[in-house]
Amino acid sequence: MSAKIRKGDNVEIISGRSEDKGKRGEVIKVDTEKGRVVVQGVNLRTKHQKQVQTKGRTVNPGMLRFESSVHVSNVMLVCPKCGKPTRVGVQDESEKKSRICKKCSALIDE
Ligand SMILES: [Zn+2]
Repeated sequence: MSAKIRKGDNVEIISGRSEDKGKRGEVIKVDTEKGRVVVQGVNLRTKHQKQVQTKGRTVNPGMLRFESSVHVSNVMLVCPKCGKPTRVGVQDESEKKSRICKKCSALIDE
């Protein structure tokens, strides 16, 4: 998988669950091996937590909302320059690979 989506990127959901389509959020985790990313506020799941004992007291943390990963093909990078979801080009500058917005040709990585 190409590393075109990176942690900290702003992405838009272009396919997948309808309730998430069109949502934008920050990439908080990238799994390059599986080709999956976790996007803040997208693909939310609810996990029921067990009661835990803390210093003799029983604490019920209740439900935990967490983001489940989505496949990288379901997201598109949002260009920080033009604000549009875009395909990404890569410009080879020596060993540093800079990403380019295909819509406005702006350099995404400084
Ligand atoms: Zn752009």
